Amino acid sequence: MGVGVLQPWHVIVILVIVLVIFGPGKLPMLGKAVGDTVKDFKKAVSDEPESSADAVPVVPAAPVVAVAPPPAMRECSTCHKPLPATDRFCGACGAQQQVPVA
Ligand SMILES: [Zn+2]
Repeated sequence: MGVGVLQPWHVIVILVIVLVIFGPGKLPMLGKAVGDTVKDFKKAVSDEPESSADAVPVVPAAPVVAVAPPPAMRECSTCHKPLPATDRFCGACGAQQQVPVA
């Protein structure tokens, strides 16, 4: 017989011991006490999420901020053709451009 294996007759022996200790008349009380404990426990568990859900602050939806990208294009000061703002020389006429101080 394996040690630690809960055999069916072990449960019966435990039940018999419980019967001997508490007596048949006290079993309903014992069951009621266990039932009340379980009921209180379930009540506490089910109450917990409700109260915590009420405590959660309502976070307003973050406004959608349209981040306008900085103008990536500018106009050549000489030929007035559009060229990338980061280019120091115009691609069309080769004129040096003033690089905007970022
Ligand atoms: Zn140019």
